[in-house]
Amino acid sequence: MGAYDSYKQQVVDTAQSLTRKGFLMATGGNLSVRILGQKLFAITPSNYDYMKMTPEDVCILDFELNQLEGTLKPSVESAMHGAIYQARPDVNAVAHTHQVYASALSLIKSPIPTLFDEQARFLGRTVEIIPYAPSGTGFLRDVVAKHVKSHNNAFLMQNHGALCLGHDVERAAHNVEILEKCSLAYLLALCADKPVSKIPFAIREIAFSKLRKDQKKVEQGIMETGGE
Ligand code: 13P
Ligand code: ZN
Repeated sequence: MGAYDSYKQQVVDTAQSLTRKGFLMATGGNLSVRILGQKLFAITPSNYDYMKMTPEDVCILDFELNQLEGTLKPSVESAMHGAIYQARPDVNAVAHTHQVYASALSLIKSPIPTLFDEQARFLGRTVEIIPYAPSGTGFLRDVVAKHVKSHNNAFLMQNHGALCLGHDVERAAHNVEILEKCSLAYLLALCADKPVSKIPFAIREIAFSKLRKDQKKVEQGIMETGGE
């Protein structure tokens, strides 16, 4: 048994579940979990079939991107994942996908206003657009690291895809699903030639304050996460 086996298993199980549900397709996207209490994370290898992936294929990296375990090349977005863990102490799992409806909104550069209660509670105030930067670059790492400081947990990456964060890997995966539901509903609503209504401002703020409370508990180590 290796020290990081349970983290590697979480990465494989969640990546395969997201693939079965259609949120990860081909080898697009990547998934990581923080190794709690250490400056390390477990991340999917680059350009590798999720359904063939085993825990041994998962890479363990430190925040300087030195590879401690795994023989395959780590995801090209490893720097982005590492930067998120450093910017957001409440985040213990990161899912980057090329999910279709969220990707469509990223093409029209349309942030998702607060349409649903569950959106404000789990994804944050709005789903912002992260401006385009090429995949796998330091430009993308830096623009993402800047935007995640908003404390929101879901983002649209212009002309690329989506980014969902969570205090554990299950929450990050649920946020992927909620984001896709919001994206599809918003796209359909935009097709009707009528104003799109939002939830009341006060309700949005109450829901977002609950999310912030959870985030602070994780930062202080008093909220259980699936990582231990
Ligand atoms: P990797 O296969 O290297 O993780 O890259 C996929 C991707 O989504 C790049 O943005
Ligand atoms: Zn991508």
